[in-house]
Amino acid sequence: MTRFSAEQIRSVAVLGAGTMGHGIAQVAAQLGCTVALYDVDLAAAERGVSKIRATLDKGVSLGKVTADDRDATMARLRAGAVLAAACEGADLVVEAAPERLELKAKLFGEVDRAAPHALLASNTSSLSIGSIAAAVADPSRLVGMHFFNPVHLMKLVEVVRHERADAAAVAAAVGFSERLGKTPIVVSDSPGFASSRLGLVLGLEAMRMVESGVASAADIDTAM
Ligand code: NAD
Repeated sequence: MTRFSAEQIRSVAVLGAGTMGHGIAQVAAQLGCTVALYDVDLAAAERGVSKIRATLDKGVSLGKVTADDRDATMARLRAGAVLAAACEGADLVVEAAPERLELKAKLFGEVDRAAPHALLASNTSSLSIGSIAAAVADPSRLVGMHFFNPVHLMKLVEVVRHERADAAAVAAAVGFSERLGKTPIVVSDSPGFASSRLGLVLGLEAMRMVESGVASAADIDTAM
């Protein structure tokens, strides 16, 4: 038996309740997991839960979510500003805090003690996963899970594998992404992962086309 199993992830802690964190909390709760949405700022955590409610209400009005599913999802969510309480019993901890290495490292240093056996994931879009993982005693249990905004609609998840990552941790992140109905890809821990690197090429080519008069910026945007 491996240490991590996607099927056994039932309790999730999401750290940071902003744009990405509240979206990740929503999809995990919709899947049926118990979710603790943590933020240093309790008001931000509560706002995150309110935004989820608003998104689900919209889903109900569009006929995409039933009122029962919305209510069951909301019942699985709790907002909090106490890290140890949020992490208690979590099978998976997903960090979606601001994009600063020292902040993420400090946060995972605390998570290390609060959730000693959980699978750990960072939603960083540009930082080295290996550097973040160095903040925990056993770096092999931390991987990247790079979701896209808005999380409930975007299918892609980049699962980022650093040099010391446990293959079982990577497999569990892939499996859990699939359970969420996402399309995971596995990328190594290199700058820009796959998505941002591709975006860079597109962006540069678009600039070159504007410079050489191929089309206007507005028309290139339309082509995209
Ligand atoms: P955001 O600014 O919307 O939210 C960040 C939240 O983290 C805020 O609510 C803030 O109060 C909270 N926070 C601050 N310090 C904290 C701490 N120590 N512990 C816990 N929470 C803390 O940011 P976001 O756009 O959701 O981005 C979060 C992460 O996701 C970043 O690493 C970012 O690079 C990545 N990301 C963002 C997007 C995007 O489109 N916004 C897409 C993919 C990945």
